Amino acid sequence: MSKPRFASVWLGGCSGCHMSFLDMDEWLFELAELVDVVYSPIVDVKEFPENVDITLVEGAVANEDNVEVARIVREHSRVVAAFGDCAVSTNVTGMRNPLGDPSTILERVYVDSPDRDQVIPEAAGIVPPLLPKVLPLHKVISVDFYMPGCPPSAAEIQRAIETLLSDDLRHGVTEDIRRG
Ligand code: SF4
Repeated sequence: MSKPRFASVWLGGCSGCHMSFLDMDEWLFELAELVDVVYSPIVDVKEFPENVDITLVEGAVANEDNVEVARIVREHSRVVAAFGDCAVSTNVTGMRNPLGDPSTILERVYVDSPDRDQVIPEAAGIVPPLLPKVLPLHKVISVDFYMPGCPPSAAEIQRAIETLLSDDLRHGVTEDIRRG
């Protein structure tokens, strides 16, 4: 049987969840034996591939690019896990929500601030448009598994992946996906 195809994605987060992932240290070698890592910020693949068995999604959905990536991830993954508090509940990324419309915040930061060049990156096309509100992942796509924590500890991530893999293997996911 072929190995499960594993991916991780970084949306609106600080990358701390992925740093915690790397803290699994030696177990990463075991993981590399158990799965094929087909996409991640830590590997050099640009396009999210098809037929992924398990995808961990770090970060909340904060801008239009995040929405698009989340939808592609959902379409191409059998199991999607919200990885860390930002994905689960918006957490730090959602701290802008009580401040209202993002255009007000952008004006304040980039135009009113005296030490900037007074260009709003979004208006200049440098960054994707922000959503009116930061959303947890489950408000944009369906989520199969939640891994809270800011960040989840390396031990918690390992336990979660082991659970996902055992579930995955029990249901013969990799074979089902390729038959479909
Ligand atoms: Fe960073 Fe915490 Fe959000 Fe993870 S949950 S992306 S560590 S702020």
